[in-house]
Amino acid sequence: MSEKVLPFNKEKLSQVIEQYPTPFYIYDEEAIRDNARRLIKAFSWAPEFKEYFAVKATPNPSILKALKEEGIGADCSSLLELMLAEKAGISGEEIMFTSNDTPAEDFIKARELGAIINLDDITHIPFLESNAGTPDLICFRYNPGPLQEGGNAIIGNPEDSKYGLTRKQLLDAYSIMQAKGVKRFGVHTMVISNELDPNYFIETASMMFDLVVEIYKTLGIKMEFVNFGGGIGIPYKPEQEAVDLEYLSRGIKSAYDEKIVANNLHPLKLYMECGRMITGPYGYLVTTVMHKKEIYKNYVGVDACMANLMRPGMYGAYHHITVLGKEDWPLGYIYDVVGSLCENNDKFAINRKLPMMEIGDIIAIHDAGAHGHAMGFNYNGKLRSAELMLKPDGTVEMIRRSETIEDYFSTLNT
Ligand SMILES: *Cc1c(COP(=O)(O)O)cnc(C)c1O
Repeated sequence: MSEKVLPFNKEKLSQVIEQYPTPFYIYDEEAIRDNARRLIKAFSWAPEFKEYFAVKATPNPSILKALKEEGIGADCSSLLELMLAEKAGISGEEIMFTSNDTPAEDFIKARELGAIINLDDITHIPFLESNAGTPDLICFRYNPGPLQEGGNAIIGNPEDSKYGLTRKQLLDAYSIMQAKGVKRFGVHTMVISNELDPNYFIETASMMFDLVVEIYKTLGIKMEFVNFGGGIGIPYKPEQEAVDLEYLSRGIKSAYDEKIVANNLHPLKLYMECGRMITGPYGYLVTTVMHKKEIYKNYVGVDACMANLMRPGMYGAYHHITVLGKEDWPLGYIYDVVGSLCENNDKFAINRKLPMMEIGDIIAIHDAGAHGHAMGFNYNGKLRSAELMLKPDGTVEMIRRSETIEDYFSTLNT
């Protein structure tokens, strides 16, 4: 069970709303920092462990800056994400550039910042070289493909995924880079997403350590780091359990000892690119009930919509809902909580048991700290909301203003 508690009560939130009207996102900075420290601490046994926060999850420099202070870098996949990292003061090898189908200008910017470049395809070797030059350190993204090719039962079949190089291409790619005089190498993979079973990550790590040994034996390359990507899930539902980071870390350590240490390939740096598990549980979409509607079902209409938080409408994802001030009320009513888009999937919750709702109630939608605001859009003429930071001292700072009508019209010829 993961208890869904809020870092604010109704009184506090009502004060915030006086200054910043709903809908808005609010992030709990202290909880994000604590969580970042927990992850780093879990891997304190590793020769060097670094988390590169996936910028796409919460692309706000204020978040990136707070994470940088905790020793976390940035995982970027586009020119603008690189610029966001730069704005947060993150540069050089604190940036991992894990992109795919990459435009030349993105590689140029990544090289300018001295980011670690993680190539998604063997054809990107000459593309990178001719557009931005070959760096001293290079990483490739591995796609383990179908099981019979050395994949692994627990991970499944990443052969349908567009990412990465095949096993054969991977070995060829390192050999090509070796011939070009590159001396520093890393290897990356990311085969799972929003996964709560730590054994998947342990299996992935184990597979990657085997690969590091194989690359050493075939090419004589001593890998500098392995990047396991992101994908650690979060307990969106109250009955789900968060990933036990200590268990995860112990499992990876035993594979490390068995494969890396035993083959004299220690020290090997371990990297991750988690987004969701870092900020996800510590961000909330706050919205106010505008209407109640009773037809064949009972609807609660709020002032946020799917354009603010796409996950429920897009994936049918569960996001827990708390009605402020009614935390202890019985869940005696069943509602669909909906937004105002002219799309019938614009629903934050379907058949949700909630306390009796009234117009004016303030609702917090949980676990919206990653892939939330970031996936917002302007459909139906909806504007993106503000983002606020609840600071460790209890004050609230606006870290992104809401979009205005002028913003919307600024790209149009009118
Ligand atoms: C999306 C993504 C991540 C982060 O995934 P989370 O599920 O947020 O942890 C990390 N690396 C790459 C390459 C990604 O595409």
